[in-house]
Amino acid sequence: MTDLHATHPIVAKFGGSSVADAGQVRKIAAIVRADPRRRFVVVSAPGKRHAQDKKITDLLYLCHSLGEQGLDVGAPFAVIKERYLGIASELGVEGAWEWLRDVQQQVAGGAARDWIASRGEYLSARIIAAFLDAEFLDAAEAIRFGEDGRFHASESYARLHERLARVSADKIAVIPGFYGQDAQGRIQCFSRGGSDVTGAVVARAVHAAVYENWTDVSGMLMADPRLVAGPLPIEEITYREQRELSYMGASVLHDEAVFPVREAGIPIHIRNTNRPDDPGTRIVTERDARDTPIIGIAGRTGFCILFTEKAMMNQERGYGRRVLEVLEAHGISYEHSPTSIDTMSVIVADEALGGKEAAVVAEIRRAVQPDRVEVQRDLAMIAIVGQGMVHRVGVAARAFAALAGAGINIRLINQGSSELNIIVGIAAPDYPAAVRVLYAAFTEGVQ
Ligand code: ASP
Repeated sequence: MTDLHATHPIVAKFGGSSVADAGQVRKIAAIVRADPRRRFVVVSAPGKRHAQDKKITDLLYLCHSLGEQGLDVGAPFAVIKERYLGIASELGVEGAWEWLRDVQQQVAGGAARDWIASRGEYLSARIIAAFLDAEFLDAAEAIRFGEDGRFHASESYARLHERLARVSADKIAVIPGFYGQDAQGRIQCFSRGGSDVTGAVVARAVHAAVYENWTDVSGMLMADPRLVAGPLPIEEITYREQRELSYMGASVLHDEAVFPVREAGIPIHIRNTNRPDDPGTRIVTERDARDTPIIGIAGRTGFCILFTEKAMMNQERGYGRRVLEVLEAHGISYEHSPTSIDTMSVIVADEALGGKEAAVVAEIRRAVQPDRVEVQRDLAMIAIVGQGMVHRVGVAARAFAALAGAGINIRLINQGSSELNIIVGIAAPDYPAAVRVLYAAFTEGVQ
């Protein structure tokens, strides 16, 4: 038995592109062997090797839907088989043929959707465990979902801890990501991209020193590289900052992957399998933000403003509640709600409003009898994020001056009282230019 509390191993999760072919798996072996603390390895199913390639998980879902319609799964399964057999034979791993045969039989026999989808990670982990001469731990043995279909944290941590403590200290264990077992003993998957969640859960269960998330980029960048040429990398960011940025579109991790490790204060280190010497991004509880008040800029288009105006609104109790109740009744969640004395705006994603616009406007008219209510479309929101804002005078002034200098009109401003971000709403066509000038304003003299 290893005392995992005392040893603080590293959990290394490798994503789809890191297991996409035999060459990538060899890189994993080199990374794992470079640090003896890397004892628990979580893997995804093979992803794309190039833009036109197929992801194994997509093919598995395709097999299921073809089978469900009584159609032949031969063609997609042949691609899956060829992929794994190719990887295994290049790595000199034996046994893959039998594993695939078993999976093929079950797929042909009409296995359940999640069972089929999970085989991508299962086969990947089997092959990689054999190649690393590591123990294979089936996630179904330890990761559990409850009666309500939700991940069962305490039971999963306890089972993982107990099982992984039994792996002898000189051994590595490989665990397939993405799935576990439900209360009825059936395989259940996390949502897409869920191997990140498995990695976090394993890290939490073994009290990891760090949860390494190995992918094909060298971590997070200060701005979207499609809009800004060569943005600076983010070396360290807090969980809260990362959440703000990822919510606004700068996402490198599955959303739910942060919570298990964040609760335990385990840092996440995003690293590049293809460039293991790059520093990557560390996501931590606290950082010294004095030198880098702004950590990143992210945004999205596709928002609209539900604008209401009524004279003396400020004196009318329950106005805001009644407006928001209309949205709630339609199942619409909102992003922000800036108000002035006589106006209240609610920012909603276009897709959340969907075809409900006319009904929502009519009901708001009935609920609060406003002087004016309208939906203003084509809004983009940009978040300027950084814990260091709290230490600085003039961050907002700098942002607004940069936008003004570029002739960009600000439609709304929202600064949370946590002073973690400033959010500006602008017309969607101004979005690319706005990101560029804001990035320039906050990185001047840094590069
Ligand atoms: N293979 C799964 C997917 O493609 C899970 C993962 O890779 O994280 O969604």
